[in-house]
Amino acid sequence: MFDTIVIGAGIAGVSVAYWLKEEGQSVLLVDKKGLLAGASGAAGAFLSPRLGKGGELQRITNEAYLFALEFYKKNTPHSFFQKGLARVPKDDEDAKRFHEYRRHLKIPFKLCGREDLPFLSKESLIDEAICFEEAAFVDPMGAAKSLSDGVQTIFGIDAKPTRESGVWRVGKFKAKNIVISTGAERLPIEAPYLEISGLWGERVDIKTSAKIPMTIHKRISVSANVEGVVRVGATHVRDDERSEIERVNSLIVDAIGMVPALKDQTLLRIYAGRRSSVSDHFPVVGALADLHRTYKTLGVPSKNVKPESSEIDRIEGCFIAGCYGGRGFVFAPLMGKALANKILKGEAVNPLASPDRYLLRYLRKNRFKSA
Ligand SMILES: Cc1cc2nc3c(=O)[nH]c(=O)nc-3n(C[C@H](O)[C@H](O)[C@H](O)COP(=O)(O)OP(=O)(O)OC[C@H]3O[C@@H](n4cnc5c(N)ncnc54)[C@H](O)[C@@H]3O)c2cc1C
Repeated sequence: MFDTIVIGAGIAGVSVAYWLKEEGQSVLLVDKKGLLAGASGAAGAFLSPRLGKGGELQRITNEAYLFALEFYKKNTPHSFFQKGLARVPKDDEDAKRFHEYRRHLKIPFKLCGREDLPFLSKESLIDEAICFEEAAFVDPMGAAKSLSDGVQTIFGIDAKPTRESGVWRVGKFKAKNIVISTGAERLPIEAPYLEISGLWGERVDIKTSAKIPMTIHKRISVSANVEGVVRVGATHVRDDERSEIERVNSLIVDAIGMVPALKDQTLLRIYAGRRSSVSDHFPVVGALADLHRTYKTLGVPSKNVKPESSEIDRIEGCFIAGCYGGRGFVFAPLMGKALANKILKGEAVNPLASPDRYLLRYLRKNRFKSA
């Protein structure tokens, strides 16, 4: 019997487990494959701010970014590489947008030109880059191992949680609460109002002597060189029909186009994963609702019913954390803490991240009745 079983040992599940364990809960972390067997193991795990025009998604992402920097630095120092990062405009249109983005940035940055980025090819820098000296990346596996230290883990369980006599069961294990952090895979619990989609991406690690002191984000990402290893990563568009070999080849060709010194590279390893998101690109973190009971109580809810409202009927002890898109390592620490506070102290999560927003949309569109 545990206080909480966390289903899914990606960075989302590991972070929730970490915070619950820190607060003294007994936690079991289960995964059908293993630690970071999904998108998290494939991630470049760059911690970078979001550029934009100052909207809520940018604000919440950058709050999570600042939190994540301190979190990994403090808790996983051996897996944290604070090398800085340059956001390089992709084309002329992007360069124009960057001028506007600069006005909305509340995070310290400096503008970098050719002299600051001499390792970039001439054609890849068409205008100044926006550089964040504090930006970093983490070694996903090193960080996950440190964070899950003290958490009981069991791998090889394809969890299908059931509830009996007021207790959750996952196989032979029992708990008061469950947290679902199953990434882009099918949810193991009924929540049809959450339409989670996955997007494939690859990362390759290459061995090289190229001097790359800071990470570059353009169409693809090329990390700073740490002990002779550089990570190159990209997620691709949904209708990309190329084979993995073709995509990896083009990733390496693009990387050499950006940093010519990478010509000497030797391929070390290819990683691939599917990152998860929902249509508004905000995270999905909080208590899950009982759709049937909520429909009975609320019918088609009025606009006055907001996410996190007490009028929404909950599935007791059932929570979710995920849908972090291309920023799982950025969101996971802060969102994991928010969910732990929800579970332990009943604190509301940010309504922008609450799964209730989709529940209410679903009911308002009368989709429950029509289904
Ligand atoms: C190529 C690539 C590059 C990326 N680069 C970055 C980056 O630079 N920075 C950044 O912050 N983010 C990056 N991301 C995004 C980031 O990887 C994801 O947002 C994050 O890993 C999602 O974590 P997760 O825990 O939600 O999902 P996952 O890591 O996919 O974990 C879900 C886990 O649940 C398990 N599971 C599923 N169903 C069940 C079940 N029923 N029972 C038991 N276990 C189950 C799976 O086996 C899996 O291990 C990148 C992603 C990709 C693919």
